[in-house]
Amino acid sequence: MPKMRTGWITFTCSEDSTIVFLELLNKNFFDWSERMEFVYCNALKKSGDVLKVRDVDVFFVEGAISTEDEKRKLEHIRSISKYVVAIGACACTGMPSSQRNFFDERTKSEITPRLEKFCLFSEVQPITKFIKVDDMVMGCPMDEKAFVRTLGKYFGIFKV
Ligand code: SF4
Repeated sequence: MPKMRTGWITFTCSEDSTIVFLELLNKNFFDWSERMEFVYCNALKKSGDVLKVRDVDVFFVEGAISTEDEKRKLEHIRSISKYVVAIGACACTGMPSSQRNFFDERTKSEITPRLEKFCLFSEVQPITKFIKVDDMVMGCPMDEKAFVRTLGKYFGIFKV
């Protein structure tokens, strides 16, 4: 029986939801590996260039967007995925990764040379600013139970 083709990626963030996910594998690995295959997940295997990935059933996206490169990858993910799920507060709302958006003008001008040096956007944005998402798992890091519920919903959709 075909497994659910799954992706997991992190953008601008602390990757703590990825750690929560890896912890969940301690008790769910054998069950979940019967139902899903990872076509992209750097936390589990070297996954290469996400721009070459195709035909994903569900892509989980952690973190906010702060560069043109991240934006391009995110838009690609949307174009090759049946469903995209925002993981954690940074992906869903931008915060706390976007806290520099709210610096005072003086502090903003102090950090501008660094933003230019590393080709960073002047403001960090949630992924929802650039693409439509099908689900959000809130929390900082993500709420474990909400994630398991959401994953179960997609197991149901893909009948795995
Ligand atoms: S939501 Fe919290 S845990 Fe998740 S990436 Fe952002 S800061 Fe880290």
